[in-house]
Amino acid sequence: MKNVESVWQEMLSVLEVEVNSLGFDVWIKPLRVIRVEDNILGVVSPTPGSKTEVIAKYLPLLKRTLRDIEDAPAALIVISEDEVPEYLEQADKPSAASELSGEDDKPKTAMLNPKYTFAKFVVGGCNRYAQAIAREVAEHPGEACNPLFIYGDVGLGKTHLMHAIGNEIRMSMPNMKILYVSSDTFINEFIASIRSPNGVNNQSFRDKYRKVDLLMIDDVQFISKKPATADEIFHTFEALKSAGKQMVFASDRPPKDIPDLDSRVRSRFASSVIVDVQAPDLETRVAILQTKAQDVPINIGMNELMYIAERVTDNIREMEGVLTKAVFLSRLYERKVDIAICQEALRDYQVQEHDEINADEIVNCTCRYFNVKKDDLIGKKKNKEIVEPRQIAIYIINELLPNLPLASIGEFFGGREHTTVMHARAKIGSLIATDAKIRTAVNDIKAMALRK
Ligand code: ADP
Ligand code: MG
Repeated sequence: MKNVESVWQEMLSVLEVEVNSLGFDVWIKPLRVIRVEDNILGVVSPTPGSKTEVIAKYLPLLKRTLRDIEDAPAALIVISEDEVPEYLEQADKPSAASELSGEDDKPKTAMLNPKYTFAKFVVGGCNRYAQAIAREVAEHPGEACNPLFIYGDVGLGKTHLMHAIGNEIRMSMPNMKILYVSSDTFINEFIASIRSPNGVNNQSFRDKYRKVDLLMIDDVQFISKKPATADEIFHTFEALKSAGKQMVFASDRPPKDIPDLDSRVRSRFASSVIVDVQAPDLETRVAILQTKAQDVPINIGMNELMYIAERVTDNIREMEGVLTKAVFLSRLYERKVDIAICQEALRDYQVQEHDEINADEIVNCTCRYFNVKKDDLIGKKKNKEIVEPRQIAIYIINELLPNLPLASIGEFFGGREHTTVMHARAKIGSLIATDAKIRTAVNDIKAMALRK
């Protein structure tokens, strides 16, 4: 996680829009943040009473906001001022300072997380092939497995594998220039470069991306519907390929399933060596938890590890979040991690899932409430009688299913852009504060959906 203070400032700017102004002043403003662990943000409320309120009112929203702005794995917990352990108060400040000063020393070319190595990557049936190919790339970059395309659902180790390749090559071939970026960074830098009036930035952008020995771009699914960026990726791709340089891409789906992608880029991705990572089985999950527990380090029994691994099945990042929270609670209560602590740690995770409901059901409830046809609601009609219910449905889906990516919500609503989803969310979020009819509708539909 970046500097927690700057993460919080970014979150506040989103929350200010999403929460009505009274709520923002009363509940959100008094909060402060601390770094609990590397990947866990502690939101501290002044009193135990306000903590309870904040959890009840805003926990899913806080989590979603953090997830939206932070691409590193990060979990969030709410605690009250009197629960902040002493060791954290001391640890917080120097670490924030070193983060800032450390920035400039690091070579700008590689933002690699040193913890994501092959040594720390647990191999199971779900990822054996992907790991073997990634190792091959790390040992012989630019040769047989070039480019490499890794895909799989969120939280299954794609980013970890990319960093592992980078870390390995940095050790064994220190002269190689390595560049790892998220596709967001690539898109933003590209846009900034074409806006530059004299083309200077444009040249330095090209130099940056075309003069490396290893280029890794994460989450390339986000370049769909971005033709100019895709064009730039295409030319970068050709330049690096003909120079024999290694490329690695990751995506949440295979090339053929990325919608609205420049056909040249799709065909380049499709002709890569394509590997997937899948959800780990129970044994692998336990092994991963064991590795993480050793890292902390924390003494945790097999029963407790099993308890967590059995309950968090399809996202390793979430599973780590639960373990981290258990570690935190065990320090807070000054006792070993036991089943009761695991249960408490799992509580947030289960709250936010709302397993029993899904987007479809929320849409059905919305249609019933407003008496509109489902085809219209998820279709293209633009009259107010349809648009408002549609935005309300989007808002509720996003609130009750915070793990559902905005892009998937957009897809669900007839292939709309994730920005449309964000717009709907912000719009209804602010209307709720001022418009009693909207507020009632949202509450009633939520109640209908949750009652099932
Ligand atoms: P993705 O990029 O696929 O969304 P990440 O690479 O960010 O997922 O992984 C999420 C978290 O799970 C990271 O903290 C990562 O270290 C951990 N993780 C994933 N797969 C493994 C594995 N096989 N062994 C150990 N840790 C793993
Ligand atoms: Mg990732």
